Parts: sequence; structure tokens; C-alpha cells
Amino acid sequence: MDKRDYYEVLGVSKTATADEIKKAYRKLAIKYHPDKNPGDKAAEEKFKEAAEAYDVLSNDEKRQKYDQFGHNMGPQGFPGGGGGFYSSGGFSMEDIFSQFGDIFGGHYSGQWGGATGGGHRQARRAVRKGSDLRIKVKLTLEEIAKGVSKTLKIPTMAKCEHCNGTGAKDGKAFTTCHTCNGTGSVLHTQNTIFGAMQSAATCPDCQGEGKIITERCPYCNGEGVVRKEETVSFDIPAGVQEGMTLTVKGKGNAPRHGGVNGDLLVVIEEVKHPELIRDGNDVIYNLMLDIPTAALGGSVEVPTITGRARLKIVPGTQPGKVLRLRGKGLPSTEGYGTGDELVNVMVYIPETLSDSEKAVMEQLRESPNVKPTEGVKNRIFSKLRHIFE
Ligand SMILES: [Zn+2]
Ligand SMILES: [Zn+2]
Repeated sequence: MDKRDYYEVLGVSKTATADEIKKAYRKLAIKYHPDKNPGDKAAEEKFKEAAEAYDVLSNDEKRQKYDQFGHNMGPQGFPGGGGGFYSSGGFSMEDIFSQFGDIFGGHYSGQWGGATGGGHRQARRAVRKGSDLRIKVKLTLEEIAKGVSKTLKIPTMAKCEHCNGTGAKDGKAFTTCHTCNGTGSVLHTQNTIFGAMQSAATCPDCQGEGKIITERCPYCNGEGVVRKEETVSFDIPAGVQEGMTLTVKGKGNAPRHGGVNGDLLVVIEEVKHPELIRDGNDVIYNLMLDIPTAALGGSVEVPTITGRARLKIVPGTQPGKVLRLRGKGLPSTEGYGTGDELVNVMVYIPETLSDSEKAVMEQLRESPNVKPTEGVKNRIFSKLRHIFE
């Protein structure tokens, strides 16, 4: 999906100040607020689009990244292959209302209930989020080259099934909180830019749950969560690098007493390849030729990420020469291009020789072609210069 430029969405210039951005967003948020446009999908989309733009442009770090990379930079600074800061629909109403405390100064932290429940305003109950989990995943160069799907067992705090995450015995042993009459919030009327509005503060007696547990669930001891090994599957795109973090939404811990799960953060670790050395999107292989092959030419086998490949050696190949296998490197996570394999040529000088081999060498010693002339030295040294400088 094509995303509109965030500055365009808010109708501000690239050099807009934080205050201008805030003002522009307030205007749009009021215009497209779901309570003012009940059932209007287009308005809701505009509302979300503005909220997302504001989220990025109001945060110095995100704004800087956006200015640099546009929509091509995903969460965690991980290049998301055009997915943008938020994949479409990834910015939820909960996210939006959690911004409003900042924008409008009200008590907006809470669940969006506007378009549901027949359109009448409901008390907004805080949505709890579980904590994030962090795991390390070791990948070989072969896996990094192609991208890989992983299925792992991860110890998590999961929702207790016996009480459906409520913490109350059988999910039923509750009594309604008298302080808030079960709404979870204490309402007070406030004059806001939308006119007089009731806004809600979390009920201090039930911590916003609206109900009080009378008998705890024995399986989770009233916590609503239990330790559990969860099987989680996720895809890792090709070209990732050591230290990158991918976010798997909603696969972290469940919160106490219900709510949304935290996220699973997957940290990439590279397993060293036995023969190849990674250098960005390129890989390097150090090839050692024997003297006859370097002098006479021939064909050698070299390892690549995708298996062995044959490489032609021209007669007179010098040590220090770099041969390039195009496209045998790693793809870029940004989606443009694939690296090469660079074969770094060395020549092996034998350390022990038999008598007959020595005789051949002695014969060669006297041969004029094995002696480098001044011209040859200059040509080869000028090519190798960059190594020594
Ligand atoms: Zn339970
Ligand atoms: Zn209460």
C-alpha cells in the first residue's frame, strides 16, 4: 500500500516546529474523531493516518529516521522492506488514545469504545500490556542468505485458561466494585476542545478492573497468568545482520488479569561460517593456489553460501588478486541488490620438497621467465599499493 508522506498528512512543512505539528494534529484529530463521525470508515482512516504521522513526527528520534529513510524504516530501526514505521492497520485505536493525554491533557489513556456499543460512550478501561520477551536466534550464513522461518519453544507467562486470565476462580468469582459501579473508572466532567466531555480516571479501589476477586483461581493463585512454554513461529527476512532486532507482535508475556500480550523481540546472532567471512553484504574467501595452477592457469573449486562453485584461474594469476563472484553474497534487507563473493588469491610456496622437485625448481631458477622484470614489478606493485597504504 502506498503511504502518504507524514508531513503531507498533517499539512505541515518539513521544517515545522514541534508546536506546529501538535497544532496541525489537534485540528485533524478533532475533525476526524470517531465520536464526531460515527460509522464513517473514511474518517476513521484519516484519523488513524494523522495519529500515525503525529506519532512519528512528534518524536525527535523517529522524525529524524523518517527524514532519512522515509517509510522504509520499520520499528526498532529495522529496515522493514517498505512496510514503514507501521504496517497498514498496525496503528491501533488504543495507540491513538494513549497519545491524547499528551495532546489534550485529558485522561484518555484507555480503550477505544466509540464505534462499538451502539455509539454511546462507555467508560474506557485501561488496556494492560504484558512485558516484552527477548530471545537470541543464531543464524548461519545460508539461512541469512535465503531468509528463514523459525519455530521455537519459548518460556512465557501465558494467560491462565482455568480463569480465562481473570485470576478469579473459574473466571466467575467476582463482585462488582462499589466505588466505580463496575465501570473501572471514576468519571468527571471536563471542558475540552470537543465541548463538555466526561473523562475517566482509573478507579483506585479495583485498579480499573471494575470488579474485585472474591475467590482466587487456584491454578494461577489469582494472577491470571501461568508459566508456559509457547511454540512461536516467525519469519526472518534475508540479509539480516548480527545485532538486529525483529519484533513479533503479541508473542511476549500476557499481563496479569487480562489485556494484550507484550511482544517478542528476536535478536539476530550470526554463526561464523567455517570458510567464508562476511563483510556487509559481501563475503570473502581466502583462496590458496599452488604454484603450477597460479602459473599455468586452471580451474579450482571454491565454497559459496549456496554450495561449491568452480572458478577459472587465468595463467599468471598473482597473489593479492581479488576475483569477484557476482551476486554470490547476501541480499540487502532494504531490498536493493545482492552482494558478491570476493575471492582473495594467495599462492602457496612449498615448505618441503623431494629431490626431484628440487631439481625442477633449480632448473626453473635459471629460466628467464621466472624472474620479474622492473616493468612487471611496477605493474604488480601498483595494483597492490592499496593493501600497503
Ligand atoms: Zn487462573
Ligand atoms: Zn472500581
